[in-house]
Amino acid sequence: MSSISNVSENTPHLLILGMGGTIAGLAPNPEENPLQYQAGQVGVDALVAHVQSVVPEGVKLVSRQVANINSRNLTDAHLTSLGLAVKDALLDAAVQGIVITHGTDTMEETGLFLQATCGKLAHTQSKRVILTGAMLPSNAPGADGPSNLLDALRWASTSIDNCPGGIYAVMDGRGCMAIDLAKRHATALNAPLQNAPSSSVGLINPSWLSGVKAVQAAWNEDLPIPQEGEWPWVEILTSHTGARPETITQWLSSSVQGFVIAGTGHGGFHDDWLKPLDQAMAQGIALVRTTRTGAGATLPNIPEIDHFGCRPSGSLTAPRARIGLQLALNAAKQGNKAGKPLTWQDFFARMADLPEIR
Ligand code: ASP
Repeated sequence: MSSISNVSENTPHLLILGMGGTIAGLAPNPEENPLQYQAGQVGVDALVAHVQSVVPEGVKLVSRQVANINSRNLTDAHLTSLGLAVKDALLDAAVQGIVITHGTDTMEETGLFLQATCGKLAHTQSKRVILTGAMLPSNAPGADGPSNLLDALRWASTSIDNCPGGIYAVMDGRGCMAIDLAKRHATALNAPLQNAPSSSVGLINPSWLSGVKAVQAAWNEDLPIPQEGEWPWVEILTSHTGARPETITQWLSSSVQGFVIAGTGHGGFHDDWLKPLDQAMAQGIALVRTTRTGAGATLPNIPEIDHFGCRPSGSLTAPRARIGLQLALNAAKQGNKAGKPLTWQDFFARMADLPEIR
């Protein structure tokens, strides 16, 4: 599905890719109950039309609907479509920058996906790719979508000297690297950026900017975008009080290819999982462990020596680690086809060991 505004595709423009979310949501009774609504109801062309008259002079806008969903329903296939659309746009000389309107629930996963598959290209093409969304549906009093979209469009169109090409997110007047966003509040207007190192979009903070440059210097090569139907099957399993071995053993007869363990504390898991997880790894199931605490890194051999093959998630949260493991398994498969001896652990480490912005 695609909709293009009345600008010729060869005219320099910003491209707005619509994925849906609350920014495109409608509430039946917005005055009485703005938080009871359906996400992904309004087309991206209408969202763009609403702000078109206030975008900076001379900036042309072209919109394209990639999906119009509640982002809790995001699929691997949606990511493939979005990744390919972003890649094409980065390579299109007429596109000056890209804004993606997206649901906030899973923006975290899309952020990691786009950094890992298009981050280098965005940097070398000197274009910003900016994810944005809203916490209130489009017809709610005080809806935050229009101002977020406008901030993203303004930032995407400002000079590249201000901040390099790359994959970012904007909400509530602030911008961060898309790999740093994670929804950490159910309702706050800044929910996805609340705990992320960020900068005001109006006045770029120099120490944040030097952190961005350090991340970009360390990101040397984009990973391939898995084709639809080629995404490895990876599950997140949470360790908790009373965890049972059956939670792991029930998977051993399935075709699952990887587990991300959202562990307690440093990313540890219940002792009752030790034996079945060793069995899973012996069967070739990839294992990453992370922390369910919501903050802080998961480091190798802490608190105990890692069993062979198990990889800690570094700075990646469980949702990001899951996407990272899918991309790493896919890259290792493709790399091995080409005769390169890189393992999924090698590809995963590139994402997990990126410098953190303080
Ligand atoms: N459930 C919505 C979504 O992720 C929430 C939002 O957009 O803020 O699509």
